Amino acid sequence: TVKVAFLTKLFGENKALDGVGFEAGRGELVVLLGRSGSGKSTLLRHLNGLEVPTSGQVQVLGEDLSSLTGSSLRRLRSRVGFIFQQFELVPSLTVLENVLTGSLAVVRGPRLGLFGYGKARRLTALEHLETVGLLQLAYQRADTLSGGQQQRVAIARALMQEPEILLADEPVASLDPESSDQVMNLIRDIARSKGLTVVCSLHQVDLALSWADRIVGLRHGKVVLNTLTENMTREEAMGIYGQVEVATI
Ligand code: ATP
Ligand code: MG
Repeated sequence: TVKVAFLTKLFGENKALDGVGFEAGRGELVVLLGRSGSGKSTLLRHLNGLEVPTSGQVQVLGEDLSSLTGSSLRRLRSRVGFIFQQFELVPSLTVLENVLTGSLAVVRGPRLGLFGYGKARRLTALEHLETVGLLQLAYQRADTLSGGQQQRVAIARALMQEPEILLADEPVASLDPESSDQVMNLIRDIARSKGLTVVCSLHQVDLALSWADRIVGLRHGKVVLNTLTENMTREEAMGIYGQVEVATI
């Protein structure tokens, strides 16, 4: 689980986050919704210890991040998966090899070559490919896949860490509407079936309304809405973007 309270982050004079608080529980898909510059990526980066708060608390899996350093921070990070808008697959490797690279982060001792993975690891990778519905593409080069398929490979790669938390920064921003729905559907399924806590940033209201369990609305670094999706109207969700520019979203 994730708990954030009174989180403020200054970049120079610029308040990227201003007293942010929210929680996300096991099996829950929480969507951070807000326009460009509202602080979504900055908030996600705090959840992984990639940014240090100016003030406030970030608790992840029961640990206060500010109390962790060095190896204890690395150990916590290995329990937190991250996926991005740019999938960052290695284009010349096969789908299966790309998934296997996800276990590099948790391999102990001398680093194994890409082809040195044991049988057990390969079986696990194939299982994750089945979870994301791409088993049949395991031996194809990654750069022959569509954007939506590549993002699903990136999700399988993140699963190699056996994460308890999955952070996703605009995972569908470069996908067409149909692939976006597929990827969000997959992310929500994984959250539920594996009991993962997922925090995912989006900027499309309708995708958030379709797939989120809870929507946390950010505007200028402040939480302006924090509601279970089932209790939310489209007008409320649109309100996150403010009055003036609603028509352009
Ligand atoms: P987008 O939808 O465009 O990805 P976002 O909601 O993710 O936007 P952030 O990237 O978190 O927004 O940025 C929030 C604010 O913090 C912006 O004003 C941005 O300029 C500022 N900011 C973010 N990272 C840094 C940094 N490393 N140094 C200085 N300012 C930063
Ligand atoms: Mg961002």
